Amino acid sequence: MTHSDMLRVMRCCVRQPSGSAAVFPKAACEILGQDYQIEQKQAVVGASIGIALVSDEKAAPEDTVRKADMALYQAKADGRATFRFFEPALDEQVRRRQELRAGLRTALDRGELDLHFQPLVRIQTGEVRCFEALLRWQPPSGGAISPAEFIPAAEETGLIMRIGEWALRTACVEAAHWPPFIRVAVNLSPVQFRSPDLLQMVAGTLAAASLAPGRLELEITESVLLQDDQASLAILQELRRLGVRIALDDFGTGFSSLGYLLRFPFDKIKIDRSFVSGLPDRRESTAIIRAVVSMSQSLGISVTAEGVETAEQLDALRRLGCDDAQGYLYSQPLPAAELTTLIEGPQYRSGHSKV
Ligand code: C2E
Ligand code: MG
Ligand code: MG
Repeated sequence: MTHSDMLRVMRCCVRQPSGSAAVFPKAACEILGQDYQIEQKQAVVGASIGIALVSDEKAAPEDTVRKADMALYQAKADGRATFRFFEPALDEQVRRRQELRAGLRTALDRGELDLHFQPLVRIQTGEVRCFEALLRWQPPSGGAISPAEFIPAAEETGLIMRIGEWALRTACVEAAHWPPFIRVAVNLSPVQFRSPDLLQMVAGTLAAASLAPGRLELEITESVLLQDDQASLAILQELRRLGVRIALDDFGTGFSSLGYLLRFPFDKIKIDRSFVSGLPDRRESTAIIRAVVSMSQSLGISVTAEGVETAEQLDALRRLGCDDAQGYLYSQPLPAAELTTLIEGPQYRSGHSKV
């Protein structure tokens, strides 16, 4: 913050003598968030602020700084360029995160991680075309922990590299036992994209499992494209050259725009559950899915709807021209040993029930 910025923030605080502790950080975030002209270049900076209020004069300074740091972490997690006050609940969240990180360190070696598989079904014919591999963590000390909770912890600690590699290897070995017309889909974290060894790791895993590259589908989210765009696109092209298929997962969340579909020739788009849950009644959901299907069809990209739970949603998706569906209506994610009837048995011919 330059001297003149500081003065602007101070003036702003004086002009609003509400006494609220939020006035200063709010003004600081707003002023620092404005664009700066540095010589000929326009610079965009932002500030995230964590605040701990001290009511007890005897409070230890280190403790106050630790609390402000937790609040700062929260401000960053809430999208940055904002401020947060320390609250006691943050203490509990941090403790939980530390517990997760410590547990994850040994989870893989102790065999606490497992993969479940959920079918992706062709809507028109009821055939199972692919299974998505989804991580499960069952610590000995308590109930199962959702990947939505432990994947971020694995990403923060870098453990996602080992865990992701294990998931890919296990999924490919499993898929090698399935009929050749069924693919396996594996989720890739944006953190794995920062590794220079990703390509080699994928190629080596496919070879070791004797799985044809065309039977592997890697699911990425748009955050992969948001981080170093050109480098990520280059890695995606290389993966494509190996023969692996690339799917864009959770489409419609975050900053998703149809523009992404033009940046890379994805093989598949997975429409996020938040849109599917609006079917058949919400006009916005219908309009968005119709637009995605129409653009994908003209680009030759297949479309899967995620989180399909009801027959009405499936009917609406069929009418909208969606190719595949995945969701509890067909099946929950299942352990590998329980896939036999889905693979060998009759398919979902009547739309969603097994015949
Ligand atoms: P995702 O890749 O979008 O996976 C779909 C999630 O939706 C899964 O949650 C699945 O169990 C859930 N789901 C499927 N059908 C339905 C439905 O009909 N209704 C509802 N409410 N949910 C449904 P899950 O297994 O908890 O996984 C959450 C996320 O964790 C995944 O979202 C993926 O982003 C991440 N994840 C899971 N396994 C891996 C992995 O091996 N590597 C990485 N990097 N991420 C993973
Ligand atoms: Mg996925
Ligand atoms: Mg998804």
